[in-house]
Formats: sequence, C-alpha cells, structure tokens
Amino acid sequence: MSDLRFRVVEQAFHAKAKEVDVPKERPSEYFGKYVFNREKMFKYLPKKVYDKLVDAMDNGAALDRSIADEVAAGMKRWAMELGVTHYTHWFQPLTEGTAEKHDAFVEHDGKGGMLEEFSGKLLVQQEPDASSFPNGGIRNTFEARGYSAWDPSSPVFVVDDTLCIPTIFIAYTGESLDYKAPLLKALSAVDKAATEVCRYFDPAVKRVYAYLGWEQEYFLVDEGLYAARPDLLLTGRTLMGHEASKNQQLEDHYFGAIPTRVAAFMKDLEIQALELGIPVKTRHNEVAPNQFELAPIFEECNLAVDHNMLIMSLMRKVARTHGFRVLLHEKPFKGVNGSGKHNNWSLGTDTGVLLMAPGKTAEENLRFITFIVNTLMAVYRHNGLLKASIMSATNAHRLGANEAPPAIISSFLGDQLSRVLDHLEVSPEEDLVSLGGKHGLKLDIPQIPELLIDNTDRNRTSPFAFTGNRFEFRAVGSEANCASAMIALNAALAEQLAEFKAEVDGLMAAGEAKEAALIQVIRKYIKLCKPIRFDGNGYSDEWKAEAERRGLDCETSCPVIFDNYLKPESVAMFEKTGVMTKVELEARNEVKWETYTKKIQIEARVLGDLAMNHIVPVAVEYQSKLIDNVYKMKGLFSEEEAARLSAENLAIIREIAERTAFIKEHVDAMVNARKVANKIEGERAKAVAYHDTIAPMLEEIRYHIDKLELIVDDTMWTLPKYRELLFIR
Ligand code: ADP
Ligand code: MG
Repeated sequence: MSDLRFRVVEQAFHAKAKEVDVPKERPSEYFGKYVFNREKMFKYLPKKVYDKLVDAMDNGAALDRSIADEVAAGMKRWAMELGVTHYTHWFQPLTEGTAEKHDAFVEHDGKGGMLEEFSGKLLVQQEPDASSFPNGGIRNTFEARGYSAWDPSSPVFVVDDTLCIPTIFIAYTGESLDYKAPLLKALSAVDKAATEVCRYFDPAVKRVYAYLGWEQEYFLVDEGLYAARPDLLLTGRTLMGHEASKNQQLEDHYFGAIPTRVAAFMKDLEIQALELGIPVKTRHNEVAPNQFELAPIFEECNLAVDHNMLIMSLMRKVARTHGFRVLLHEKPFKGVNGSGKHNNWSLGTDTGVLLMAPGKTAEENLRFITFIVNTLMAVYRHNGLLKASIMSATNAHRLGANEAPPAIISSFLGDQLSRVLDHLEVSPEEDLVSLGGKHGLKLDIPQIPELLIDNTDRNRTSPFAFTGNRFEFRAVGSEANCASAMIALNAALAEQLAEFKAEVDGLMAAGEAKEAALIQVIRKYIKLCKPIRFDGNGYSDEWKAEAERRGLDCETSCPVIFDNYLKPESVAMFEKTGVMTKVELEARNEVKWETYTKKIQIEARVLGDLAMNHIVPVAVEYQSKLIDNVYKMKGLFSEEEAARLSAENLAIIREIAERTAFIKEHVDAMVNARKVANKIEGERAKAVAYHDTIAPMLEEIRYHIDKLELIVDDTMWTLPKYRELLFIR
C-alpha cells in the first residue's frame, strides 16, 4: 500500500464507536422538542391567533396577514428560549438539496443599540437572491426577482441556533422555482378530485390527504478513506475500482447485526431526528456491504417530503461527527447494489379511511377498487412521465441494473388483487349490478380484506407495487427529492379521478344507478389499463420485449426520458390540474438537461485527472520495476533461461503498456468529445451528446483502470480499494 493509503486504512480499521448523548427522557417526551408544533403554538400564541393558524394548517385557509406579527412574536419567544439567534427561509430549489440564508434576529433600535426583532413580514415572505439557483431561464425571460413564502402546513423548526421556516420559492411572476410549490398544488388537486369521488360512498368526507412513507437507503464510508478518493469526494461515486473478491454474494449483510460504530451513528441520528419531529422507526442493514436503511412512520405527503429533505442533511451532519461520510448517490460502487428511496404512497380521508386498503363490506371494497383502478389508469397513461419524474444522471446507473426496478414503469398487484380485477372484468352484468343490493354479492369483492392486508407475495423487481394498503414507488433515487415523484403521481391521479367522476356522473344522469355506473366505468378502465399490470420478473429480457409490445415507455436514455414532461398529454395534465404551466415545465426541463450535462462533465474531468495523475504514473512506475528486473535477470542467468523466467513479467509489461496507451488516448478523445459537445446549442441536444458519446467513454476508460488495479503492486496503489471502502467500518 502507498503510505497515505496505509495510514487511512489503518486509522479506519481502528476507529472506535463514538459515545452518544442519550437524552434522559423517553422518545415520546423529546419527540418534536425543536418543532413549533401545535402544543407549542397553543402555549406561545394567543387563543384567537392559534385558532386561525390551525385553520390555515388544516383547511388550507388563507393565512390572515394581520395575525402574522403575532405568530412571529410567539415563534421568536419560543425560539429564543432555545438559544436561537437567527432565522432562515428554508426552501427546496431545483437542486438535490435545500437552501437557506441565515439572518440574525437583531435590528437597530433607533437609539444606537440593537434589539431582537422578528416581524410577521419576515416570517411570511422574503426575497432571496434567486439568480444563483437553477431556474431554466424563467428568471431571465421574466421579472428578475424571486421570493420565498411561508408554508404553514409544515411546522417551523430549530436547527442549532437557527429558526427554520419551510417556504415555497417562486418567481415574481408566479412561476415555481422549487419542488414545494408544485407539490402543494398537486396535493390540493388530488384532495379535491378524490374528495369528490369519495362522496359517492360517504357524503361526509371533506378532505383527502396523500400519505408518504419513504424508506431511505444509504452507504456509510469511513471519512479518511473517503478523503483519499477524489472521485467519491467530487462526484459522490467511485469512477473506478475493481470489485472486491467478496461483496454481497453470501448475502450476509442484509438484516445482519449492525456494526457498533454504525449503530452509534444510527442511534445519534434517530435521537436528533425525533427531536426534529421526524417519526423514524425502522433501521437495518441493506443488501450491499456498508449499506443501510432508515424509515419513518408515514405522514402527510408534504410534511414527509420536508422530513426526508431534513433527514438527508441531518445524516450528512451526524455522519461526520462519527467519522463517517454518508453516500446518498444512487450508485456509489459498481458491482454492488445501489441505493433507492422507496416511496410508500396512499390516500386517506379526514374521516380516517385509508382509500388503498380493502374494507369489510361490499361498498367499502367498491371504493377500494375504485381507487386502485384509477391509480392504475393514471400510472398507465403517464408511465413515461412517472419514469421521467424519478430519472437523473445518478439514478440512471441503478435502474435496470438487475438490482433496482427496470427502466420501465409497471405495476405489481399480487395474486389476490389481480384475481379480483380479472373477475370484475369478465363477470356478467347481472352479478355486477347486484353489488349495491342488500343480498350481498356474487363477486369476490367481500372476501378481499384479510387476504390482501397481509400481502406477502412481494415482487422486488416491480417499480410500482401494491403492498396491502398502499402502493410502493420503488424507482425513486436515494438522493432525489421525493417531491418530484409525488408531484407527477398525485397530479396524474387528480386528472384521472376527475375524468372518472365525469364519466360516472354522465351515466347517472342518463339514468344508471350509482353502483352500476361506478362498476361500468371501473370495468372499462380495468380493460384499458391492463398493459401496466405485470407480476413477473421485471429484470428479464422477455419483459423488455413484452413491455415494448404493450406500448409502455421503454426509453433508457436519461435526457430523452425527460422529454416526457413536454409531451402534449403531460402538459395538458399538469395544466388541467393547475399544478404547472407549460412555461414552468419547459424551464424545469432546461434545468434537468443542464444538470445532467454538468454531472457527466464533472465525472469526465475527474476521471481524466485521476487516470493521468494517479493511475498511469503508478502503473508505469511498477512497469519500470519489472523492466529493471527483466534486465537484471539477464546478468544472472543464461539468455535462454532468463527469457523463460521473465516471460510472466514481460507479459505484464506489455499489458501495462497497452492499457496505459488506451487510457491516455481515450482521455484525450474524451476531452475532444467534450469540446465538441460544449459547442452544441440547446441544453437538450448537449445533454444527449453527453449521454451518447461521453458517458460511454467513462466506462471504457474505467475498464482498463480496473484491470491495472489487479496487476499493479498493491504497495504502490494510492487509491483505497473497494475491499477497504466497503468492508472497513
Ligand atoms: P418494507 O421494507 O417491507 O417495504 P418498511 O416497514 O421498511 O417496509 O417500510 C414501510 C414504509 O411504508 C414505512 O415508512 C411505513 O410507515 C410506510 N407505510 C405503511 N403504510 C402506509 C400507507 N398506508 N401509506 C403510506 N405509507 C405507508
Ligand atoms: Mg419497501
């Protein structure tokens, strides 16, 4: 090992678990300690103000500006008791993280001194300098200002000395520049459409919530090893590295005992998450070595998205205090599983009914089937869009890689539910109409409940699987903002439910009974959306061919997949539901393409540098040693004998010469290809060029580097190897 590598490996090997400060109280007592939740609102706000705020939170009532000052004053009082000195509007720009600019509470008091000040105006709205966030040209073509505005449906919280206010971020002209604004619109659209459909079954329903329970996968790497890998540091993934002789073949990591140093990290993370009101519940090892998962109890979707953003930054922070770095990249290591973020999603009413869960009566099950079938229709009609919603330069490495869902969206329903739908599709009309009647059914519907709730025949290869009382969207990337997928899914369902309602109402107006009308439309949909249902092996080549025949979106090029956002049916769907305009969609795609190009560009540069500065020189140095040896052999042995004994070394000398020559040539070629691509006008065309020409070069160069790693003397190799990165903790 090179000296540096030896030092970091040794240090990592001996690293001890850090002591964790465990609060004396029980989790139920410190849960939400740093959140301005209802309990604190009640304590710190006048009753009248509290009532208005709760109304804004629960019913989306517009927040009266006149109470903003009083809310701000209460928040400030609470925050200052916690030692807070600053506040920030916390928002989610179109990058993978969150943004915040901290301002101190202090203001001049007009008498030469300072006082702590936090007004309603500062709480409700700000104008951060938005030109430094991706906006896809919106801010150039329109008014140059952008502003952030408080989202009262997500509570304010404290991190360190700062009061964080969740906000949306929009252009002065109203276009969204973030994830939260369109998410709130999509949630409101699905609420409205689903509530109306629910009223066929229960007129008392006033509101429908979308729920989200995310499962966050991640890797941990020792900090010293991480620092010695410039590729990990700069791109979030290893651009080179030969597979370790052992990785996940023995399947000995999944659900295995959690290593002590990692357990300390998890414990610390969980305590801090609970204090921030994030209801974390589950932790375990994942499939790959050094890979783990964290999951909370599901929550209302907007809050769950915020909590996921918060937990990702918390993870990064806490990991560092434990001498780790957390990797949220979807594919940090070649040859071992990547990381995703399963999005468990469902709808529920204000009357406490989970709409994706089967019920006990025929009517409850008709409602259940209504929501299942409409979801399938929405996913079918917008399968390409849903794929676009989870696609990124980084997630592209994982999808279709025989570990994650394939790059084709389909839905797994399981035996029971499939049979129910098949039955409904073909059963005779008289049977169906009897559904609403008192004399029970001739259908299977009432028998659904217990069987389905315990839906254990999971299909891990399905990107959109029904799991008992929810759907699980598994194609989401580990580093992504869940909002992207949730915007597309909820908006698509909102559109679908509105159309469903129109059809059912039409039939009823023509004299059909309600149940008969519902069933008639459901039956039609069951037939229409059949192509989206797939319970087989999503990894197989047969499925790819079959999906193509079924007309599902099978595109694999990331920049081309983004086109789905601009298809007429997508634009129509987003505009009809009021979630996004065509201008916003176009701007967002510009950002997506630009981000894609930049990511590949950075990887290409880093790989080029490492190849020329770390790999080739080390390989050549080792080669020289061998050449030296070959010459010296000639002094010791007869010519014939020396030739025989040096045959191995000569072969290695030749291999190194060939591989380093390939690497040098291709690094040069890659630089030239970048120059050509950079001159291309238009973000889409540029991204396509990066995808088609430059991305494959990364793989070709890597191949030869990884081969060199296997033959070059280990004592000379400078970069920590996979066996060190993945197995030392
Ligand atoms: P698994 O790993 O078996 O898929 P987990 O228990 O790790 O399951 O995670 C399941 C996630 O789904 C949790 O976040 C849980 O809160 C969430 N969840 C459970 N029921 C629902 C539901 N009806 N709607 C949304 N999320 C749900
Ligand atoms: Mg899961």
